[in-house]
Amino acid sequence: MDLIHAIRGMNDLLPAEAARWQLVEETARSVLERYGYKEIRTPVVEETRLFQRSIGETTDIVEKEMYTFEDRKGKKLTLRPEGTAGVVRAVLEHNLFADDRAPKVYYLGSMFRYERPQKGRYRQFYQIGAEAFGVADPLIDAEIIAMAWRFLDELGLGGLEVRLNSLGDAQSRASYRELLVAALTPHKDALCADCQRRYVTNPLRVLDCKVEGCKAIAATLPSIADALSDASKAHAAAVEATLKDLGIAYRVDPQLVRGLDYYTNTIFEISASSGELGSQNTVVGGGRYDGLVEQLGGQPTPAIGFAFGVERLVLLLGEKQKAARPRVFVAALGVEARKWAMRTVEALRAMGAAAELEYESKSFKAQLKRADKIGAKLVLVVGDNELAGGYAQLKDMTAGAQRQIPLQDVVAATLTALNASV
Ligand code: AMP
Repeated sequence: MDLIHAIRGMNDLLPAEAARWQLVEETARSVLERYGYKEIRTPVVEETRLFQRSIGETTDIVEKEMYTFEDRKGKKLTLRPEGTAGVVRAVLEHNLFADDRAPKVYYLGSMFRYERPQKGRYRQFYQIGAEAFGVADPLIDAEIIAMAWRFLDELGLGGLEVRLNSLGDAQSRASYRELLVAALTPHKDALCADCQRRYVTNPLRVLDCKVEGCKAIAATLPSIADALSDASKAHAAAVEATLKDLGIAYRVDPQLVRGLDYYTNTIFEISASSGELGSQNTVVGGGRYDGLVEQLGGQPTPAIGFAFGVERLVLLLGEKQKAARPRVFVAALGVEARKWAMRTVEALRAMGAAAELEYESKSFKAQLKRADKIGAKLVLVVGDNELAGGYAQLKDMTAGAQRQIPLQDVVAATLTALNASV
């Protein structure tokens, strides 16, 4: 029979890589919860119009990258390409504002985009995201960047750069749009087909276009900084002042626009400056989206968030991973000894230890090989002779030492030895 393969751009996470993913996820939970964020889980599938209305009809994600299908009743559904829209929908649907005027939530989960797969870019990928609602003060913009930075620091990742920009409020955006359309009109024929179609409705997308010709034109365009309202300027200055105060280095990048329409004022990305990730070197992107809650049917509510790409973090971690738990292996030979082994691993597990045994009837030599294979720190060796004598041998695989333990003390002595080896 022929083998069936995974879908292009969708990866298996194999057991050998799991400890690295767990390190990322556990560090994220630990950091996010210290900042007061609580977990939220939303469905992987949402109504297509949720993403059209939030991410924007003329973005690459909505125009080209969504996995959209009809269910059996003809309803248009989409595999979520990002997490914010679903979170905003859920926050509104369950009115989380009823008992908290400023809820802060985080999520971990897979996202789907029909992009061209390459290293660091996949069609199913995992994001860790955070969203904070109800706070307009720039203090939280700086705090969310500090939180992202702390997470990276606790993962031990260096060589990273924070890039910051402001897209302005609604008023700044309207005047910038006019500036852009005027500046783009003479270059109209040189733009790619997508940009020719969307530069009047959504000229910001030209700034984000990956086509070389458009990139060259984008470099000549006026900067958003020229169109910022006084309020937006003051907001950006306050974010920068707090970042300086916290000692977080950043670079203002006037070219930074991000690929989603819902952002207002602060936007940021953190990228690896070394070549490890190649062209897909941005590990986190985020920003403020003060208009989105209202756009999705809620009261006007300021909000800000970010999303990390987990695969990229795992690539940057290299060999670093969660420390393995010390384990004990029980090697037994003979009918009674094997029964004792089964009772003993259960007793050890009940006390919180990681314990395994050989299921098949095998020689001691084969069992010790297995113990070595699973990386056991300790091995309990019991044959019918030991059982008759009322003791077991406790072997420390790293130190190579071996001692006899009376059977009634085996669980306690093994636990003590395991803890001592941590
Ligand atoms: P975005 O929502 O596009 O700003 O993405 C936020 C982060 O998710 C990026 O900085 C990447 O780390 C990650 N990411 C986005 N798209 C992909 C993808 N196709 N494959 C892997 N990671 C991705």
